[in-house]
Amino acid sequence: MLSKFLPNEHVKSVFEIKAELLKEKGIKGIITDLDNTLVAWNVKNATPEVVSWFKSMQDHGIKVTIISNNKEERVKMFSEPLGTPYVFSARKPLKRAFKVAAKQMELKKEEIVVIGDQLLTDVLGGNSAGFYTVLVVPIVQTDEKITQFNRRIERKIMNYFRRKGKISWEDK
Ligand SMILES: [Mg+2]
Repeated sequence: MLSKFLPNEHVKSVFEIKAELLKEKGIKGIITDLDNTLVAWNVKNATPEVVSWFKSMQDHGIKVTIISNNKEERVKMFSEPLGTPYVFSARKPLKRAFKVAAKQMELKKEEIVVIGDQLLTDVLGGNSAGFYTVLVVPIVQTDEKITQFNRRIERKIMNYFRRKGKISWEDK
């Protein structure tokens, strides 16, 4: 049952995910979380690093959609300057937003990777909807209130996986 929480891959940062490599694997699209995945949850705009990551994906023909449980104002203000499609109030881990994003990109599940910093929303949702999931280390160690609760459960699941030898990365 807990296997739905296990990401296919784990990286330190979204910037380790390179367009060239994705392309080699036949990936044509990315569904990514926003808060603590692309920037810290309390940073309003994309950093130069985020801008160039998006540009590199675009240059390689890889489509990116941001899906976030955060509200419209936050997600719109961040995404629009990047010229990237977005879904706000996504209600992850529900599958709907993931499916909407895939449909809008006109890509198959197998052509998309889901990236996020939380097991209980991004990974669970991405796995349930049938996507390849990549967990990143949260950009900052602080979170919004609702997320703080999720993190406590997440830590327990992580420890379980670690005991079972299913994950090898260091704790954050
Ligand atoms: Mg997040």
